[in-house]
Amino acid sequence: MSVYKESLETSIVVASTREYSERKTGVVNVPIYLSSTFHQESFDEFGPYDYSRSGNPTRDALEKTIAELEGGTRGLAFASGIAAISSAFMLLSAGDHIVITEDVYGGTFRFVTEVLPRLGIEHTFVDFTNLEAVASAIRSNTKLIYIETPSNPCLGITDIAGIVELAKDNNCLTFLDNTFMTPLYQRPLDLGIDVVLHSATKFLSGHSDIIAGLAVTKDEELGKRLAFLQNSFGAILGAQDSFSLIQGIKTLSVRFEKSADSAQQIANYLTNHSLVEEVYYPGLSTHPGFEIHAQQATSPGAVLSFRLPTKAIAKAFVESLQIPVFAVSLGGVESILSHPAQMSHAAMPIDEREKRGITDGLLRFSVGIENVNDLIADFDQALQVAAKQKEKVGI
Ligand SMILES: *Cc1c(COP(=O)(O)O)cnc(C)c1O
Repeated sequence: MSVYKESLETSIVVASTREYSERKTGVVNVPIYLSSTFHQESFDEFGPYDYSRSGNPTRDALEKTIAELEGGTRGLAFASGIAAISSAFMLLSAGDHIVITEDVYGGTFRFVTEVLPRLGIEHTFVDFTNLEAVASAIRSNTKLIYIETPSNPCLGITDIAGIVELAKDNNCLTFLDNTFMTPLYQRPLDLGIDVVLHSATKFLSGHSDIIAGLAVTKDEELGKRLAFLQNSFGAILGAQDSFSLIQGIKTLSVRFEKSADSAQQIANYLTNHSLVEEVYYPGLSTHPGFEIHAQQATSPGAVLSFRLPTKAIAKAFVESLQIPVFAVSLGGVESILSHPAQMSHAAMPIDEREKRGITDGLLRFSVGIENVNDLIADFDQALQVAAKQKEKVGI
């Protein structure tokens, strides 16, 4: 008896949700559609959704949003940035070759060097600040050129239009990891890039709360092939995280403009400090990519790196700071300081690391939305402690 009653009540809830419509409630936020499957009203004519791996209304709202922001026709949301990137690589086939920036994100490096070779997909790493080097790495079977600009952690700049021209001449696809800029500051599809990729974990979500990835294409046919791969691999973003990411994207411009403005002030401050050996930030006119970046993006962004003389001095500095989080990742409302030699680039052999400027004294700083004067005052006191460390060691 009680079982019957319960199932009756459940069926009432199910029936009433079929009647559900945003138009009736006037909600201002996209609802979180926690539904794996969707009822079909007609026996032989199915509605827009059938199963949430293939399509979910909350994820759909997010995918349409990123497509529009990037100026594309198709957006796809994945469980992580790396899920978006690795799924997009599956556009390639055995026998294909990739020309890829040597300053690529560590997880992308791992996929390209450890997974793709087993599938018969080869690669060549090149310094992407040098277009001639990229051109000479292209082979007859090169099918993809993979860009990250600005790159991590020394903010190297790649000439996007220059690479697109090379790719068109050689019938290659182009992918660009736009995590550091977001569509607010750089729209690679407008410059002819085929697939834009994001770790939405960073600036797009902005609150260090979720792991998410996005891919966007302008070409509809390519968008369909990518959507097929998204469904085939199934590394989709869930409805709740899709909702969080939509909320994050709503405040992207206010967060990111403030952070980028502060980053420029902090970069200027660090440039003038005697203990700091080098500052990498594309907003400094001394940065080798300054002019190219200014042509293809509308802001230098909110990530900068700087070099202190030694690991011991970097340690004294980090341990004296009060405000920033000391962690991997970037793009949050809280400032995040990281030590690439021990964190993002720990797996890289030491000579490779140092060749790329990733010394033991290098620190990367992702600027949050704290008061910039507080941040600079914090840096100032921590650099004073670090300077004492230098005196003590006598270097
Ligand atoms: C973090 C990051 C990734 C990987 O994204 P996940 O969301 O961590 O999987 C890819 N590219 C860049 C530039 C990143 O910073």
